[in-house]
Amino acid sequence: MIEEKLDRNGRSFKNVAFDTDFVIVGGGMSGVCAAITAARAGIKVILVQDRPVLGGNASSEVRLWVLGATSHMGNNNRWSREGGVIDEILVENLYKNKEGNPIIFDTILLDKIKQEKNITLLLNTVVYDLEKSEANTIKKIFGFNSQNETKYTITAPLFCDASGDGVIGYMSGAGYRIGAEDSLKYGEKFAPDVTKYGELLGHSIYFYSRDTGAPVKYIAPSYALKDITKIPRFGNINTGEHGCKFWWLEYGGRKDTIHDTEEIKWELWSVVYGVWNYIKNSGNFKNVENLTLEWVGVIPGKRESRRFDGLYTLTQQDIIEQRHHNDAVSFGGWAIDLHPADGVYSKESGCTQYHSKGIYEIPYRCFVSKDIDNLFFAGRNISTSHVAHGSSRVMATSAFGAQAVGMAAAQCLKNKMSPRDILDENQLRALQQSLNLTGQSIPHIPIEQGRNLAGSAQIEASSTLELDEIPFDGSWYRLDFSVAQMLPLNPSTNYDFEVELDVLQPTTLNIELRYAEKPENYTPDCTAGKLEYTLQSGVQRLKISSNTTLLAKQYIFITFTKNEFIKIRTSTKRYTGLLSVFNKFNLAVNNHGKQEPPLGSGIDSFEFWCPERRPEGHNIAMNIQPAITDFDIINIINGFTRPTIKSNAWIAALKDEYPELILSWSSQQTVKGVTLYFDTDFDHPMESVQMGHPESRIPFCIRNFKLLDEKKNLIAEVNDNYQTICRINFSEPMKLNQLVLQMERSESNIPCSLFQIYIEGDVG
Ligand SMILES: Cc1cc2nc3c(=O)[nH]c(=O)nc-3n(C[C@H](O)[C@H](O)[C@H](O)COP(=O)(O)OP(=O)(O)OC[C@H]3O[C@@H](n4cnc5c(N)ncnc54)[C@H](O)[C@@H]3O)c2cc1C
Repeated sequence: MIEEKLDRNGRSFKNVAFDTDFVIVGGGMSGVCAAITAARAGIKVILVQDRPVLGGNASSEVRLWVLGATSHMGNNNRWSREGGVIDEILVENLYKNKEGNPIIFDTILLDKIKQEKNITLLLNTVVYDLEKSEANTIKKIFGFNSQNETKYTITAPLFCDASGDGVIGYMSGAGYRIGAEDSLKYGEKFAPDVTKYGELLGHSIYFYSRDTGAPVKYIAPSYALKDITKIPRFGNINTGEHGCKFWWLEYGGRKDTIHDTEEIKWELWSVVYGVWNYIKNSGNFKNVENLTLEWVGVIPGKRESRRFDGLYTLTQQDIIEQRHHNDAVSFGGWAIDLHPADGVYSKESGCTQYHSKGIYEIPYRCFVSKDIDNLFFAGRNISTSHVAHGSSRVMATSAFGAQAVGMAAAQCLKNKMSPRDILDENQLRALQQSLNLTGQSIPHIPIEQGRNLAGSAQIEASSTLELDEIPFDGSWYRLDFSVAQMLPLNPSTNYDFEVELDVLQPTTLNIELRYAEKPENYTPDCTAGKLEYTLQSGVQRLKISSNTTLLAKQYIFITFTKNEFIKIRTSTKRYTGLLSVFNKFNLAVNNHGKQEPPLGSGIDSFEFWCPERRPEGHNIAMNIQPAITDFDIINIINGFTRPTIKSNAWIAALKDEYPELILSWSSQQTVKGVTLYFDTDFDHPMESVQMGHPESRIPFCIRNFKLLDEKKNLIAEVNDNYQTICRINFSEPMKLNQLVLQMERSESNIPCSLFQIYIEGDVG
């Protein structure tokens, strides 16, 4: 028993002091991905999160789905899902939680952090103060956990503010902006007219509903909105939707989105309960008797507040013009997505989203504080204009940049340097390389092969796909919408194609051969050739002679123009780096088939050609002459771990059920480990919650494989892999003259493929 008598001096809470390498404040997706990346790079990390679980807006407390450049697969950014730790998390979530249960997503994040021995996680701990050693250096931060009545003092040489609002950036005195810059500040033509549109995006609170199978009454609380007509768009309320679909229940854009948060939350609760009361009790909806309110958020999801001054500020032009930066460390691709500050009470559309023609680079300088020498930013508070923030703020993009921060922190610590010193050319290159080895895929930057033992090996494959036929074994697709087959063709080559058509009545088919002006884009904004065919009724084969050649290596789009009297044969076969795309709509991301931005907004007008999600989205069946030979074994050491201007994959012949790659060296090598980069379909957005997905593992990904030595002794065996990157570390370095990779085809309709193999030698 403990009994304490009166202490006239009062008492103090327990105080725990930590001294660590790197402190991250905020355990949203950015904080989590920065922490894991830094920990794996070998430094001690303390991650401080003021709430009981991780994920920030992606957690079960708020329930937003994690998205990024793939934009729900509704724009032209092919194969653009963010790589590295954020990819690993989303792939893990797909495997364990394809239904998108937010509680399970919480456990996946907690599990990932718990598995890192270099991370100390302080949950329920709010950072409320800091101490500086000099005007521009943070020395320590102070946190408090009310659950265990403990105060924490954490000292470190490096800090990252991933708290959304930027608590340590603010307390350290770093420069920041809140609100919208006018268009003159950065020459941004899409900058909003703040007198009408307002300056800030507001907060939102979501709700989930459920059919209980029996009638449920609903009595709204006194603070629920009574007059639904105060919501001008109340006609959009739909009983079949909940969660993320109600993103437009937004409020606070005309308030102080930090200090008025409690007030904003009450207004949002009023809106949510008022909307639910309207659904249940207005009599305007059918089949709502059995619906109950299963969950309502108690923490508002915040969209926008402080953006801190970095060494560079990302702007509209960086996004739309896809400007190149030598210090690029990540990329974005969500639309520039601005909202009227009046949110749910605005008569205007809930958002204006405009896309770029492809992904854009984000420079390292956006993550480095201009004012505080040992401070990084990650997440929505990085250095961007208000307009650019409209795109960079989404969680996969935020987390992706945060990985660069985590890796840079480790590099700073090892080399005893500050974040801005990484801008030295050699340091920058080292950072980009470390990131790409962990899956970052920074645009245009291949993994260097100098230290990859595979680069000096002679490589043979049991088979390699030569694609002269996408087999004619699938269903028919009626050309209700235009469709295109994307193919990685060689420049200066004439190709002939043959497709199968079912023509319902005599008609004319228009075919165009299109390509992207920038070879690395997938917006088919240029036309290489137009063909017109007069067709009679009946099933028939049609030969298409392109007679046009590409100047650069890139994807060509063979587009078949909409014609309701024609069906085209598809294939059941799928291949890494091949897609069919459709000129349809995806209204969730403002895709109406064509983007037509306001005149003078500095944004491009172009068509959307997007794939369909599996189990749909079949390739167009065709014969191809000469065969496409893009899938050569040389690809596995070209440094790219996803398709770019070409597939970048070695692909086996489809009939090869157990393909083998043999890497031989003329002299014995000492090998520490092998990393394999598989295809988990970077085109798939993998929304983390609510959406649900048809499969729990990506069918292109190799599940079972073995590594053998030259005598066919088993070195390693992996069964049931579903991850993108598989790293096999040998307990002791191995002496090898030959390494054999034996794979098993995972799906009978998809040949085995591999993007890269990286064999690490023992340099010590
Ligand atoms: C309604 C809404 C819809 C959106 N739609 C999408 C979408 O569909 N997909 C998408 O990807 N993005 C979406 N976004 C944007 C995205 O959610 C945010 O921009 C993103 O969460 C920012 O990430 P972050 O890591 O910077 O911040 P957060 O996710 O907010 O994480 C920051 C974390 O820091 C913690 N923290 C704050 N202060 C402290 C402190 N003092 N001490 C310790 N911890 C602290 C917070 O509790 C939080 O967990 C949406 C945003 C909103 C609000």
